[in-house]
Amino acid sequence: MAELHFFTGTMDSGKSTLALQTNHNHAARARVGRLFTTHDRAGQAKLSSRLGLTHDALEVARDFDFWRYVVDSLTQGGRIDYLVCDEAQFYTRVQIDQLAKIVDELQIDVFAFGILTDFRTELFEGSARLVELADRMNVLQVEALCWCGKRATHNARTENGVMVVEGEVIVVGDVEAIDQPPADVAYEVLCRQHHRRRLTAARAKAVSLAPEPLPFG
Ligand SMILES: [Zn+2]
Repeated sequence: MAELHFFTGTMDSGKSTLALQTNHNHAARARVGRLFTTHDRAGQAKLSSRLGLTHDALEVARDFDFWRYVVDSLTQGGRIDYLVCDEAQFYTRVQIDQLAKIVDELQIDVFAFGILTDFRTELFEGSARLVELADRMNVLQVEALCWCGKRATHNARTENGVMVVEGEVIVVGDVEAIDQPPADVAYEVLCRQHHRRRLTAARAKAVSLAPEPLPFG
């Protein structure tokens, strides 16, 4: 029986590496798959991991129809045994529903990989739907660490070095305000306590060097 698998973890937990490994394992057993990603760090239509591995992938736009794509491929005589779907947190609710339908109606395995919550600590649209629909959910065991050494469970966004908890979930890099330069956006994984306190590694270092202890909310 085919299943919808959801592998989740924080940003540095090795999801893309596992996505590529999963594809490799199935391809080695002569199974035929398709790889998908969106907003990958390597750019469009590439699935890449922090360890330097990359693989060509199909880019998932907001209006991409997984069901239509798979049905068309099969109708044209193609073979598909499984789908590997990276950056699935960015997929729409409708697209996750399509993946579930592909598993149930076409008996094709789907392996989805994605971050659970965004920098505001709220579930991503795609991840929320995967939590609701997945046959199996796996929290990755390769644990990322906060600067304090605790398990990093939350994703923080900094803009020009300052942690923010509001804003667009997806930052498009080439959008520039006319009257101000684009913010320097970066991400960092933190434990829940330090996410709550907005205490990034840089700020913790600055605080530790400050002469007076600062009050934390
Ligand atoms: Zn911490």
